[in-house]
Amino acid sequence: TNDSTPLIKINAQNLHLDGLLASGFDEASCISRFQSYLYRKASPHKPSSYLISKLRNYEEIHRKCGPRTRSYNTTMRNLVRSKEKHHSTNTSCKYIVWTPVNGLGNRMISMAATFLYSLLTDRVLLVKFEDDMMGLFCEPFLNSTWEFPKDSPFWDPTHVETYQRMMEKEKNKSSLPLVVHLNFRHTQGDPEKFFHCDQSQKLVQKVPFLILQTDQYFVPSLFMAPSFSSDITQMFPEKDTVFHHLGRYLFHPSNQAWGLISRFYQAYMEKSDQKIGLQIRLFSPDSTPHQAVLDLLLSCALQHKLLPELDTENPVTSTRRSTTLKAVLVASLFPEYGDSLRNMYVTRPTITGEVVGVYQPSHEEHQKFHNNMHNMKAWTEMYLLSLCDELVTTSLSTFGYVAQGLGGLKPWLLYRIVGGDETQHDPPCVRDFSMEPCHHIPPKHDCEGKASTDFITTSFPFIRPCMDYSFGVKMA
Ligand code: GDP
Repeated sequence: TNDSTPLIKINAQNLHLDGLLASGFDEASCISRFQSYLYRKASPHKPSSYLISKLRNYEEIHRKCGPRTRSYNTTMRNLVRSKEKHHSTNTSCKYIVWTPVNGLGNRMISMAATFLYSLLTDRVLLVKFEDDMMGLFCEPFLNSTWEFPKDSPFWDPTHVETYQRMMEKEKNKSSLPLVVHLNFRHTQGDPEKFFHCDQSQKLVQKVPFLILQTDQYFVPSLFMAPSFSSDITQMFPEKDTVFHHLGRYLFHPSNQAWGLISRFYQAYMEKSDQKIGLQIRLFSPDSTPHQAVLDLLLSCALQHKLLPELDTENPVTSTRRSTTLKAVLVASLFPEYGDSLRNMYVTRPTITGEVVGVYQPSHEEHQKFHNNMHNMKAWTEMYLLSLCDELVTTSLSTFGYVAQGLGGLKPWLLYRIVGGDETQHDPPCVRDFSMEPCHHIPPKHDCEGKASTDFITTSFPFIRPCMDYSFGVKMA
C-alpha cells in the first residue's frame, strides 16, 4: 500500500547509513551490518555524496586489485622480480599494508586513518592481522578481503627499505625502492616528519607497495597536505566526522562479537530510558588509588547530572512503578568501579527517584597481548559504549576515542590522575569540543623545515590542540 512505501524507504536509508554502506552483502555472514541500525540512533551527520562516490570507487579498485585477484598476483610477482633485479616496474595496482602496534583502540583509529590515506591515493588497503585480530570484524569490502595474505613475500618487512633511506636515495638521485616501510609509531623521535608535505607525498606516490606501521590517528596531517586539500574537504565538509563515517564504514562486529554485543545490550541496556557509558582507564594502575578515581568520576557524573545524587535522608522512597531507569555501562580493566557504583545505587534511593542499574561486562585486570578473546571483549565494550547517550571517558585513551567516534558523541573527559595525586580536581571533567580522535604526535615542522610548536594551529584553524593532551591535535 501507499502507507508502507515511505517506511520501507526510511529503513533502507537507515540500513545503509544514508548511502555510506554498499548494498549486496550476504546477511548471514555479517549480521551486525543488517541489524546495528536497530541499536543505534540514526546519525545526524550525513556522509557527503562525494564521500559516497569515493567509497564506491574504492570498492571497485579493491575488487580488482585485492588479494588473490589476477592483478594482485601479477603485481606481487613483478615486485619480487624487479626488486631482485633492481629495476622499476609498472603496476596498475598500488597497496598500503597497515601493520599493528599497541592495543585495539590504537589499532582501530590508525586503521581508519590509513583507510583515509588509501581513499586519497587510490591505494588498496590491506591489514596485517595476526591471530589476536582474527574474527573481530566482518570483511568491509564486498566480495573481497582486506586481510594481507600470510604467504606474501613482504609479510616480514625486515628486508624492506625504510622511508628515511628512501629520502636519502632521493637526495642522491638514485632509483627509488618499490617497497617501503613507514614508521608512524608513538615514539619521541619524529622520523617521518614531512609526511604532511607535498614534497614527501610526491615521492611516496611513486612507491607501489607501502608498509605502514602505526598506532596514530594521523588524519590531521592529511588535512595539512596541500595536494589532498580539495579532495579531503569535499569528502568531509564536516571536518569532525572523519572517524564517525569511516569507522562505521569499516568496523562491523563479526557474528561472534555481535552475539556478545546484542545479548548484553538486550539484557541490560535496551529497556532503559537513558544509557550512560563510563570508561575508566588507568595508565599507571599500581600508583593510582581506585578511590581517588572513583571520587573524580562521581564528582563529574553528579555535577553534570549524568548520574543522580543519593537520597541520604530517606532510606526508602516511593514505590512508584513509573520511575525512569538509567543503565550505566562501566568499561574498565578493574572490577572496583562497577562494584562500587552498583552497590551505591542498590543500597540507597536517588533524590530524583530514578532507578540506576550498573553493568560492567568484564574486568580483565591488565592489558593482554596476543590474546584474541581479550581483544574480542575490548571490541564488545567499545561498541556498547558507543550505543550510550552520554559518555565519560579517560583522557588520552584511544579505547574511548573509538567509542565516541562510532557513537557520534562528544565525551566528558575525565581529568587524568597521575600517580598518588589525591587532591581534589575542579573541574573533574570537561566536555570535548569534537568527537574525533586525537592525533597524539602531530608533525613538529612546517614544510620549509622550521620547527615550531604552533604552526599547525596558526595555519589550519580547523585543527585544534586536544583537550585531553595539549601536545596532540584534532579536527574541530
Ligand atoms: P588505550 O591504551 O587506552 O589508548 O587503548 P587501547 O585499546 O589501545 O589499549 C588498551 C587495551 O587494554 C585495550 O585494547 C584492551 O585490550 C585493554 N583494555 C583497556 N581498558 C579496557 C576495558 O575497559 N575493557 C576491556 N575489555 N579491555 C580494556
